[in-house]
Amino acid sequence: MYLIKKDLKFIWHPYTQMKDCQKAPPILIEKARGIKLYDANGNFYYDTISSWWCNVHGHNHPKIKRAIKKQLNLLEHVLFAGFTHKPAILLAEKLISIVPGKLSKVFFSDNGSTAVEVALKMSFQYWKNMGVNKKIKFISLDDGYHGDTIGTMSVSGVDLFNKVFSPLFFSSFKAPSPNCYRCPMNKDRISCNIDCINPLEKILEERSKEIAAIILEPLVMAAGGMIIYPKEYLAKAAGLARKFNVHLILDEVATGFGRTGKMFACDHVENLLPDFLCLSKGITAGYLPLGATLTTDKIYQAFYADYKEKKTFFHGHTFTANPLACAAALASLEIFEEENVLEKVGKILPFFHKTMEEFKDLPIAGDVRYLGLIAALELVKDKKTKQRFSFEERIGFEIFQQGLKKNLLLRPLGNIVYFFLPLCIQKRELHDILSRTHSLIADFKKD
Ligand SMILES: *Cc1c(COP(=O)(O)O)cnc(C)c1O
Repeated sequence: MYLIKKDLKFIWHPYTQMKDCQKAPPILIEKARGIKLYDANGNFYYDTISSWWCNVHGHNHPKIKRAIKKQLNLLEHVLFAGFTHKPAILLAEKLISIVPGKLSKVFFSDNGSTAVEVALKMSFQYWKNMGVNKKIKFISLDDGYHGDTIGTMSVSGVDLFNKVFSPLFFSSFKAPSPNCYRCPMNKDRISCNIDCINPLEKILEERSKEIAAIILEPLVMAAGGMIIYPKEYLAKAAGLARKFNVHLILDEVATGFGRTGKMFACDHVENLLPDFLCLSKGITAGYLPLGATLTTDKIYQAFYADYKEKKTFFHGHTFTANPLACAAALASLEIFEEENVLEKVGKILPFFHKTMEEFKDLPIAGDVRYLGLIAALELVKDKKTKQRFSFEERIGFEIFQQGLKKNLLLRPLGNIVYFFLPLCIQKRELHDILSRTHSLIADFKKD
């Protein structure tokens, strides 16, 4: 294919060892409909990971396309300092009406990493503006992931992806992850008392005067391996943040917009009061880039002052609140209502979760976990010892290759095969995806 030749000549792909492309070149996708991607040879692939966790209502949705086209005829972009536009205003109002807690202000940007950077910088500057100069650090979880910029990497877990950059990170406190399958306390969820929160509590007891905020992905540590953790942990962490006077930053970049069965993962816990909520990925249903950081009036007021007081939040990105992206986001939120999306998702979940349970019998399935339309299968060499496949074995890459042959876009995170399904999935599609994946894993042999 002449286009692939040109691709390999001119392009450097993300998260890709380009040398692998000699044997496994990127697949040229020509069009997409619903949850299927079609390549230039007419093959289709089920988009089981929502094109990196962003597609919500399927590809080529007429309402979203119409909204973008309509906006395109009016205004494609304008700077967002000193100027504003209707799609951003209506979207901010709508977001505030659907998020939990006391979030009442929206700061737009253009991707997930920037949505998190904004929360980190706002939290940091809040304490400065309040005259509290010592609160300059953050706490995050060992397997957390908050983006690929230097700041967000500093509050993410250190792993294969970012280890090389670790000398550049600002220092932050790390607490063990609430990972029930590989419990950091060697306990069992049936009898434990969420003891894995103790190290976090200890850091706060000893150092809270230096700490600006805790940052967490609510309920699902996605890039860290689709680790799904108990809501009691989230509730307790939120309680500790309040008790020790540090901000709670919830990163819903992956979990937002219905993925966990509710609009936001934090809706699973009652009376959760985050100080910051970071949104991106699904916000535009996966059509255009957009980020949003929501915060409270209390935070906002700490920046609201005469210019000469130097309390302004000096931060912004060129494509902040892009009008086309905002129009897509508004259309997506209308679809949630018009098509009763969450109700439909709720009806399909029992079938999804029951079928996932059947994966437990497979000889290499160490753990099966799920929440909403997210599910993961942690593959192990030995179920008893939970021994992992080694880095060199690259079973994830092999499963990706074999998946393509079965019309599946599976893109395991190391040894963790997962689904991150579009909300529009139909039962027969889901059935087909699960049975194809089941037979792939059942036949999988690592020589
Ligand atoms: C993907 C992701 C990010 C980063 O978003 P980008 O748009 O890729 O920069 C941040 N936080 C979480 C939880 C994510 O899953």
